[in-house]
Amino acid sequence: MLILLTNDDGVYAEGLRALARAFAAMPGATVRVVAPERECSAGGHAVTLSRPLHIADVNIGDGMPPAISVDGTPADCVKLAVRALLERPPDLIVSGVNRGPNLSTDVFYSGTVSAAIEGAIHDIPSLAASLTAYQGAAFDDAALIVRAIAEQTLARGLPRHTLLNINIPPLPVAELDGVAVTRLSVARYRDVFDRRTDPRGRTYFWLTGEFLDDEWPEDTDVAAVRRNQVSVTPVQLDLTDHGALEVVRSWRLGLPGERPGPPGAGGGRP
Ligand code: MN
Repeated sequence: MLILLTNDDGVYAEGLRALARAFAAMPGATVRVVAPERECSAGGHAVTLSRPLHIADVNIGDGMPPAISVDGTPADCVKLAVRALLERPPDLIVSGVNRGPNLSTDVFYSGTVSAAIEGAIHDIPSLAASLTAYQGAAFDDAALIVRAIAEQTLARGLPRHTLLNINIPPLPVAELDGVAVTRLSVARYRDVFDRRTDPRGRTYFWLTGEFLDDEWPEDTDVAAVRRNQVSVTPVQLDLTDHGALEVVRSWRLGLPGERPGPPGAGGGRP
């Protein structure tokens, strides 16, 4: 079984090295690491079109699997690995373990999740994994949890065009309260921008913001992590709001100069 590991914190990040240790010890696993040479956190699903991508063989630690750094984004890394670098498409892609959570609508900004989305686009079972802490992080425990979830996922088979977004509280396994399968919540932040003045008197803004930790429905990812559970959210590529299709069709949207058609007819061509 060929397993591709990547991340958005950079090829030397501790969370990725922990994943490499955990998956290299998996029976029958061949592990390859292809990851950004620099941190790309909150870089989203960007791909690099305006310049070439350079790669380098790197050593991420004694006894570690072969690793390649790419001067691109997490999505670049997955595309390049699948299409050009690996001997064949991997059987599994794991992105992480990210330093910090990737919960709720923050998945739209996450490079960690974007790498797994790219894997799902290529029809490869893909997991994104994040530790919900920035300091004192127990990446080795988290990596073993990710490996256990990966083994169970491979045994069951993931639906096509679906990935799993995993968020792990920073606790020893014995102190966690199991796994919760959750839905994404919708994040809200307070005081999103710091407004400051630079030494030349110009105003500047720094994006910051405090996650509003109010009432979360109990089936959401944020609520599960608050309960010290590992949150696993199935995320699908199809962003269409299927429930809204009929509503928006009933508006009978038209081009300039078109008159509305009969209700329910869709567009109104004269
Ligand atoms: Mn990151």
